[in-house]
Amino acid sequence: MNDLIIIGGGPAGVAAAIYAARKHLQTVLITEEIGGQSTVSEGIENWIGSPKVHGQELAKMFRTHLDAVKSDIVRLVLHERVESLAKTAEGFTAMTKSGNAYTGKTVLIVSGAGRRKLDVPGAEKFENKGVTYCASCDGPLFADMDVAVIGGGNAGFETALQLLAYAKSVTLLHRHKEFKADAVTVEKAREHPNMRILPHTEPTEVMGEQFVTGLKYRDKDTDEIKELPVTGIFVEAGVLPNTGFAAGLVELDEVKRIKTDPHNQRTSTEGIWAAGDCTDELYHQNNIAAGDGVKALEDIYLWIKKH
Ligand SMILES: Cc1cc2nc3c(=O)[nH]c(=O)nc-3n(C[C@H](O)[C@H](O)[C@H](O)COP(=O)(O)OP(=O)(O)OC[C@H]3O[C@@H](n4cnc5c(N)ncnc54)[C@H](O)[C@@H]3O)c2cc1C
Repeated sequence: MNDLIIIGGGPAGVAAAIYAARKHLQTVLITEEIGGQSTVSEGIENWIGSPKVHGQELAKMFRTHLDAVKSDIVRLVLHERVESLAKTAEGFTAMTKSGNAYTGKTVLIVSGAGRRKLDVPGAEKFENKGVTYCASCDGPLFADMDVAVIGGGNAGFETALQLLAYAKSVTLLHRHKEFKADAVTVEKAREHPNMRILPHTEPTEVMGEQFVTGLKYRDKDTDEIKELPVTGIFVEAGVLPNTGFAAGLVELDEVKRIKTDPHNQRTSTEGIWAAGDCTDELYHQNNIAAGDGVKALEDIYLWIKKH
């Protein structure tokens, strides 16, 4: 029986595992990969301590740090997916896709999230070639260019406002006539001379050669297909947390993120903690995920000492 099962090897999981090793908590870290979502990023410019690091380089740094401290205290189970998690008399059992069972007194869920993808022809082909899912990461690469934002929620409008600082123009497309975003945020965007808003429209195709050259969309009022000449397309169509295996065991919010106490990252179930993008934390960033992973681990350590 392990002291702790960590599910996920992104910044939250790796940060927690490093602290677990230093505190001598017998831990198994089960993950599909080490690094997390931003591994695909060409340049991360806000990881504290490094002005710019490639996503894959950051993943290597995580692995190097983990290898330096883990000894035989933290066991790595790589390329494995947890498919179910169950409560037992002694603690918890995580079952993986390949049929292995791992037991632990406590569990830290740090399985992150995936972005809801743009599902039109060309979107997959041009991902990271103009189609992007992270404005704070890739926004500056589109300085002085015409870009589109897809999504009329707060994330879409906040992305648009962020991009207006660099881009030549920002066009926001939204499926409905009414916006989901806060009125104040919508107004702020509307007031900007380089902002254009297209409600009641839906993207139909991403056009490009080596990189994106434009976006085709349907005007839902007239059913007409129109073209927008843009070189960047920022998709803000929501996130999908990787929490299916924990449903029924911990309380989730309306979009299936794990509800946590922000003081200590505890979930609704005693013995299970969660941190990072799989939780209802408001902000999704590497530094925040790592910090919340550490916060959880500190609390797990005290809990284990008491039980
Ligand atoms: C393209 C892109 C670029 C980004 N760039 C930046 C940036 O520049 N700066 C910044 O601060 N933030 C950036 N972000 C956001 C940042 O990557 C996330 O906030 C951060 O990765 C969240 O960390 P996490 O540990 O919570 O989860 P994740 O990074 O999502 O990691 C989850 C981990 O869990 C594993 N996993 C998932 N499900 C299971 C399962 N069932 N069983 C086992 N393992 C599982 C995954 O393989 C992964 O290792 C970017 C995001 C994207 C998508």
